[in-house]
Amino acid sequence: MVREFKPIKLPRLNEPTITLYDGSQLPQIGAGTWKHSDEIAPKAIYTSLQLGYRLLDGACDYGNEKACGEGLTRALADGVVKREDVWVASKLWQTFHAKEHVRAAVKKSLEDWGVDYFDLYYIHFPISLAYVPIETRYPPGWYYDGESEVRHSRVPIRETWEALEELVDEGLIRHLGVSNFNSALLMDLLKYARVKPAVLQIEIHPYNAQPRAVAYAQSQGLAVTAYSSFGPQGFLELKMPKAVHAPSLFMQPVVTQIADAHNKTQAEILLKWAVQRGLAIIPKADDVCLQEQNLRVGESSWRLTDEEMEKINGLDMGLRFNDPADVSRLLTFFAHSSDAN
Ligand code: NAD
Repeated sequence: MVREFKPIKLPRLNEPTITLYDGSQLPQIGAGTWKHSDEIAPKAIYTSLQLGYRLLDGACDYGNEKACGEGLTRALADGVVKREDVWVASKLWQTFHAKEHVRAAVKKSLEDWGVDYFDLYYIHFPISLAYVPIETRYPPGWYYDGESEVRHSRVPIRETWEALEELVDEGLIRHLGVSNFNSALLMDLLKYARVKPAVLQIEIHPYNAQPRAVAYAQSQGLAVTAYSSFGPQGFLELKMPKAVHAPSLFMQPVVTQIADAHNKTQAEILLKWAVQRGLAIIPKADDVCLQEQNLRVGESSWRLTDEEMEKINGLDMGLRFNDPADVSRLLTFFAHSSDAN
């Protein structure tokens, strides 16, 4: 674990924000944390806060909340940022959906981050899996046995949501969000939610533009956060075959031509496309130069034209990389469901 932080003098970049239903301002550009190694995470979080990032997107499942929390704690201690100025987000893993497990899961993530409340806390996937105790394995991952068996539990989303609402009442969570929900699930949730979901986080990039899901969520007053803005790029580290075989968005002629026209990188074009759609983005970068490049996309000094936006929209083919249906045997619900959660 890297414990030496060498603060560098970085100019503070200003971030645009999105107004949530309760009037709070969600930073539009956040720092993704999935796949940060324990060695990299503390430094990456520290430098992103120095640069001006004010939204950190974590999750139990990323297995690095302690390391990310180390960077945050150090940044708070050094006065880089005040706790009230940074949005710390985490996500509930599906093995903790039962009402009796929600609190412990949230508490564990809070402890790992070193904070006493989350600004935003999501249900990571609308899928409940059999409980795996924290002492057995953490993070639990998809597989009940840690290897290949996907075991469902019979917990409906409503139970999980109501347990999370109690934690909002207690002040452990400021805003609730849902991730990987489709519009029909969101419609259902909105029928009973006492605490309204504030943010929908879904996979959005030009190969999977999701215009209807975005329009529906925004029409209901939710902010939408796009994850994996670079499409296959974020999944290459996992050597995911679907991503390895997909054409890189960085090499797409449409994207390259627009990048040349603006004298920007392809990454900046992909992020700008999302930002101009009113989406929050959470690109993940280990390197401070890439972190800075990504944050600068919020600057209003340049814009894509309507025609350029349309050309990028034309790349949409509904290609989703983070699809639970690809997880081995996830679909065999009845064969593997457990009454015992
Ligand atoms: P991403 O699209 O942010 O891509 C990350 C990859 O792009 C890394 O290899 C990084 O080095 C590279 N990169 C970053 N900036 C770059 C730049 N300017 N130029 C060139 N390369 C650059 O991928 P991601 O990590 O899958 O998604 C971002 C974040 O979204 C995650 O870290 C996580 O916080 C969140 N996420 C959420 C879910 C979910 O189920 N809710 C799923 C996936 C990701």
